Amino acid sequence: MPAITVEDVLACPSLPSLPAVAVKVLELTRDEKINLEAIAQVIQSDPALTAKILRTVNSTFYALPSPCRSVPRALGYLGMNTVKSLVLGFSLVDLRCETAPGFDEAGFWKHCLYAAAAARRVARLSGQCDPEEAFAAGLMQDLGVLGLLAADGTRYAEIHVLAEGDHHRLPDTERDAFGFDHAEIGAMLGERWSLPDELVEAIRHHHDTDCAGYEPLVRCVALGSEVATAMNHVEPGASLGVVREHAEQWFGFCIADVNGLVKDISDDVAELSKQLEIDAGDPIDVNWLLSQAEEATVHHQLTMEREADSLRKSNDELAKLANTDGLTGVANRKRFDEELANRYQQVVAFKGTLGLILIDADRFKLLNDTHGHQAGDAVLVELAVRLSKAVRNIDLVCRYGGEEFAVILPGASIKDAAAIAERLRKAIEGEPFDLSKVPGTPPEVSVSVSLGAAVYNEETSHVFTTAGLLVKAADQALYVAKQHGRNCVRVFRVDAAGSEAA
Ligand code: GH3
Ligand code: MG
Ligand code: MG
Repeated sequence: MPAITVEDVLACPSLPSLPAVAVKVLELTRDEKINLEAIAQVIQSDPALTAKILRTVNSTFYALPSPCRSVPRALGYLGMNTVKSLVLGFSLVDLRCETAPGFDEAGFWKHCLYAAAAARRVARLSGQCDPEEAFAAGLMQDLGVLGLLAADGTRYAEIHVLAEGDHHRLPDTERDAFGFDHAEIGAMLGERWSLPDELVEAIRHHHDTDCAGYEPLVRCVALGSEVATAMNHVEPGASLGVVREHAEQWFGFCIADVNGLVKDISDDVAELSKQLEIDAGDPIDVNWLLSQAEEATVHHQLTMEREADSLRKSNDELAKLANTDGLTGVANRKRFDEELANRYQQVVAFKGTLGLILIDADRFKLLNDTHGHQAGDAVLVELAVRLSKAVRNIDLVCRYGGEEFAVILPGASIKDAAAIAERLRKAIEGEPFDLSKVPGTPPEVSVSVSLGAAVYNEETSHVFTTAGLLVKAADQALYVAKQHGRNCVRVFRVDAAGSEAA
């Protein structure tokens, strides 16, 4: 079936058109010199419209002290803008054109009624725009549905079924089928009818989920539409949760405000249904509805807490990953640099001692060349394990780079550092490394390391004026260890005359 286009819809001959009375009222209200008498006359020329306007002004919503019996008085009570909005809204209801077989017409008008009642209550509670203007915009927001029905009723009825009676799923379903939705088409129709700009905008955005920055009327209509959907949902909890969220974001309404709105809307709908002759179906059990919202909110809070928890966990994991060496699982170079800088600052400030050992695997290139890179990796992993086991709990083992490791030793004296380094050397040399899991290699291989140590303390502080110089000293000691045949420890010593590695 060829897809219909926006142009097809707008060119459709059976497209609903705005009734003559509404066109005339719009024209008169656009005139700079507003003639209230002329407006009243036009309205009165339509007895059904007149009746609806009088019923509205006399409804409990306005609670007038005495009944209003004429259109000019209604204009006086409600103001010209409000009456204009009512005329537009009621005109739309009169557009009950032929719909397609399978289209849930009753459901459609019921939604319009709830949406209009809700928009009006939201407008009144917020005090941010005229309630009747919101009411009319609420009634007209789904104008596009009528347009789409006129253009391709059979297909549109099927799409409506796909959304399973959830009005808020309609736009996505429509866009999937046509490439545009009823909000867009409604706004275009509204422009064609020269509806007031703010009304067109309210129609255009009534399904937007982020309305915080929009004009008050647009927000009232969008929230009203969400409330209407939620109140008629088979499982209203989640939708009411969204309503609470948006009510807070867009208007600063609290939960009690929203609960009050739902009760008022339910009462208004019963009255409006008679005034506008729209079947509103069975009354809604408001208490049940609110209990569903409560349950959904509790559930939502629990989910949010759980999500926050898992986010925290994954953040912790990420932080750990960022500080950990991928192959060996010990701290990486970045962590080493940070930790050393912190420790160095502390010992300088508190006149403490800080040891550092650099450890380099001996003839590692040869090991790689002889047994393969995989064997080299296995040895590095085992090296990290043995070093970690042999240090004190307060020490930090890091992979400094390649086949080189470093250990930061807080509070260690020269004697401590030398003893720990010797312990590390023995931990490596003492037992051959297991290669049984690496294919094509002998089951074991002997490994040794050379170690260089340096210690910051009161006597060496004048030499190690930066953390970098401490590292340099440990590296020099390591170099000396290599020079002296490897598999040994050398400690950098500073004497009164200067410094040297021994
Ligand atoms: P020396 O005793 O003088 O330290 O000799 P060496 O062979 O250990 O030193 P050299 O710096 O010449 O070679 C280090 C080797 O370590 C070369 C490099 O390929 C290897 N290497 C560095 N990182 C890794 C790694 O992650 N995995 C493996 N398998 N080998 C690595
Ligand atoms: Mg090396
Ligand atoms: Mg080496």
